[in-house]
Amino acid sequence: MNELMQTVAENLKRNGFEVYTVATADEAKAQALSLIQPGWNVGVGGSMTIRQLGLVEELEAAGHKVWWHWTSPEEKSIVWENARKAEVYLASANAVTRAGQLVNIDGTGNRVASMIHGPAMVLTVVGSQKIVEGGLTAAIARIKQAACPPNASRLGLDTPCAKTGKCNEAICGDDCMCRAISMTNRPLRGQRYVVILVEEPIGY
Ligand code: SF4
Repeated sequence: MNELMQTVAENLKRNGFEVYTVATADEAKAQALSLIQPGWNVGVGGSMTIRQLGLVEELEAAGHKVWWHWTSPEEKSIVWENARKAEVYLASANAVTRAGQLVNIDGTGNRVASMIHGPAMVLTVVGSQKIVEGGLTAAIARIKQAACPPNASRLGLDTPCAKTGKCNEAICGDDCMCRAISMTNRPLRGQRYVVILVEEPIGY
């Protein structure tokens, strides 16, 4: 583990997060599965990391009810409401600051809302490429440079970053996916907040 990741892990712990550090995506998946109790309902936020891990398929095969608007057949509003009430909510973070804060940008809001209020436990899996040396400004820059362009392109959005790979907020229109920014300094009161830091890059 490099020095920055070690520092961030220590800072996250100091801030009250439950932190695990692993080398590979396979180890992250095993760690996540070990923390999810039999019978729990599982909510999932839009996350390429969670998709790449194959966690949802594994949880469904084990009998969990998984509420994920990317795969659940129900109406999105119903999925979001049930995901918010699940025992555990799976997501990633768009960026993690050196001081141990999680930063997320959302276009619809269901993900950042559920990470802040609702589920008793939030379980995030975060690739080390999402760690930034600085604070909120560096985190937002990282998200707009590295996370939004591939996400907007994948979703077929009509945004400058999807077309050119670069953010141009001044001319970003109705498809803008940067509508709400949240920074979590510490787990919210009464919330168990797990961060699995993965040395190998995963997600955007
Ligand atoms: S503000 Fe618009 S162009 Fe910039 S990263 Fe967000 S979606 Fe892309």
